[in-house]
Amino acid sequence: MDPTPLPPHPVRGQRRRLLVAGNWKMNGSLAGVQALAAAIADGAVARLDRVQLVLFPPFTYLPEAQRRLGASGMAWGAQNVSGHEDGAFTGEVSAQMLREFGCACVLVGHSERRTLFGENDAVVARKFLAVRQAGMTPVLCVGESLPEREQGATEDVVARQLQAVLDLAGASAFADAVVAYEPVWAIGTGKTATPAQAQDVHAFIRGRLAEADPAIAASLHVLYGGSMKRANARELLAMPDIDGGLLGGASLNVDEFMAVAITAQRLAQENT
Ligand code: PEP
Repeated sequence: MDPTPLPPHPVRGQRRRLLVAGNWKMNGSLAGVQALAAAIADGAVARLDRVQLVLFPPFTYLPEAQRRLGASGMAWGAQNVSGHEDGAFTGEVSAQMLREFGCACVLVGHSERRTLFGENDAVVARKFLAVRQAGMTPVLCVGESLPEREQGATEDVVARQLQAVLDLAGASAFADAVVAYEPVWAIGTGKTATPAQAQDVHAFIRGRLAEADPAIAASLHVLYGGSMKRANARELLAMPDIDGGLLGGASLNVDEFMAVAITAQRLAQENT
């Protein structure tokens, strides 16, 4: 069987085009995928030419995403992947399998994977590399916990998380990749980093990558995640180093998700 062609790449050739992604976590339904596809077919996304939308539904809904979103311009991806290519790893899903379902990108190192499922920096780095080697875009999630922020360790934590991937995969693996800064204390809590707090860490991330490769750093997408929604999207997305958002709770509501996408589109238009 021929591999399913990938949908348009969310990043390549689009210099820091704003990216708005929805991480459904273990939520949603087949009907939810269909409702999102219907909202897009309504015409809203046709006007979103300055924004790339991405959906990260649970694994089981990826075939439906492929069926329903294939022609829409919205990309889709998985929330997790095995770091192994294949073999006796019961319950795991490989990067190559995700590619067969048209995934353009894959989340790696989401804080829930790190904290609830014990994924350490080395495991996350292997997953990043597996996604890259399968020809997809890794979306590397990094971020500090509340105690780490309070101890002034935010930059140390983020630097360590980035370095693990740089050590295994090299700076070139970040070409066309995406980093999502998601302060753990802001995920699912309703607390959002202030635009200034987020901007500081985003600039730090870009700066760390620039030490390894300035050109790759300049075109890197750095998304903000942590209780982003219609009400706060504009001020966050307006920051110079924030290239889009990774939305959890707000992505489960089609209207809310589309409102953030439209906010991103307007900002991108205003900035040209
Ligand atoms: C997330 O889980 O990636 C996330 C950002 O969640 P929320 O928007 O609900 O904080």
